Amino acid sequence: MVKYICINCNYGFETEKENPLECPHCGTDRFEKDKSAEELLEEIGRILEG
Ligand SMILES: [Zn+2]
Repeated sequence: MVKYICINCNYGFETEKENPLECPHCGTDRFEKDKSAEELLEEIGRILEG
């Protein structure tokens, strides 16, 4: 699953598609991947490395 945040309406949604065509909430094609989980993992890695 890939998580996206809609830039237009700020609606968060998950999809199995790598490139969803439109926001299921407002229908715009402007959204971005929600990288928060990935960034958190990177940050934890940095902390553990010292
Ligand atoms: Zn939207």
